[in-house]
Amino acid sequence: MAIDDWFSASYGEARAKFQAAAQAAGAVQHSYAHPLKGPDGGDLAMDLAFLGPADAARVLVTSSATHGVEGFCGSGCQVGFLQSGLHSELPDDMALLHVHAHNPHGFAHERRVTEDNVDLNRNFVNFEAPLTENSAYDEVHPWLVPSDWDGPARQTADTAIQAYIAEHGMFAYQAAVSGGQHGHPDGLFYGGQAPTWSRRIIETLAQQHLSGRSHVALIDFHTGLGPRGFGELISVDVPGGAEHLRAVAWYGDEVRTPGSGDSVSAKVNGTIETGYHALLQNTESTTIAIEFGTLPPDQVLGALQADNWLYLHGDLASDEGQAIKRQIRAAFYGEDSEWSTMVWQRGLEIARKTIHGLKDS
Ligand SMILES: [Zn+2]
Repeated sequence: MAIDDWFSASYGEARAKFQAAAQAAGAVQHSYAHPLKGPDGGDLAMDLAFLGPADAARVLVTSSATHGVEGFCGSGCQVGFLQSGLHSELPDDMALLHVHAHNPHGFAHERRVTEDNVDLNRNFVNFEAPLTENSAYDEVHPWLVPSDWDGPARQTADTAIQAYIAEHGMFAYQAAVSGGQHGHPDGLFYGGQAPTWSRRIIETLAQQHLSGRSHVALIDFHTGLGPRGFGELISVDVPGGAEHLRAVAWYGDEVRTPGSGDSVSAKVNGTIETGYHALLQNTESTTIAIEFGTLPPDQVLGALQADNWLYLHGDLASDEGQAIKRQIRAAFYGEDSEWSTMVWQRGLEIARKTIHGLKDS
């Protein structure tokens, strides 16, 4: 098996590999077309590959590219799962659903956000209720979006950020920036003011493919936090609640909880995992995010800040614009064999643990 061959250099390549591997594995395929195009004019879609009995009581779902550019990681694992025959390890009455590219626009354009600058993993909130305020984000927002990238506005902003980190620490800065906010559409980690295309399609696919099952498990693949190549398991469930206890029973005490102080992730609102629990009211659901490290957090946050500036004020075609795109890609994709191999081995280990847990549940 050539692990490197499962990973891709572009969204188009990743999509083609996924569809070819799904066909070869005998999967039932379905695509939800996205209304926009990729930077090369290519089509965008959320693609499904379903393996196993159509009426299976239990379904394991894997998903990639919730955060666009992070999709190189999850897509590589999904192609590997299809090509290495993970589906042949399924017990009776269990099916496997691979969801390729939750956020195809962000994947193709190599951005973390959706086409409307929304962080999909902060978008699963109840928009009928008042949205949570984030005063910590309000404080740092002006520094995150300087009007220039190599002039006085940026210098002033960087000085303010360094002073904030010196006073409160790096993790507090990360928490302020990344917790999710609904007040600054031009900012980072923006949860939006309404469900974005990706959320609406996820709700549709859950209704069409997952409702009526007895138990659904989700593994959502992410990158950008933690030690390089290591995959931390993150549960956003309430500690001690039934969903959280089930995740701990399946995966062991290495399961981390954002906001508890033991995770590389700060506390966040509006994640896919909480969305799944809300969507599958009459179905047991066990959800986990797996977060693979790439570069140190200051470099990852710096890359996100740069990419946000580029689409607000910069020129994508300029040397500076292209340098920022290389920076964002390196922040979310290891792009070497050692990293891809670590990702694959860990992804397979967690998929097998999930099959085992789902079987015994
Ligand atoms: Zn992510």
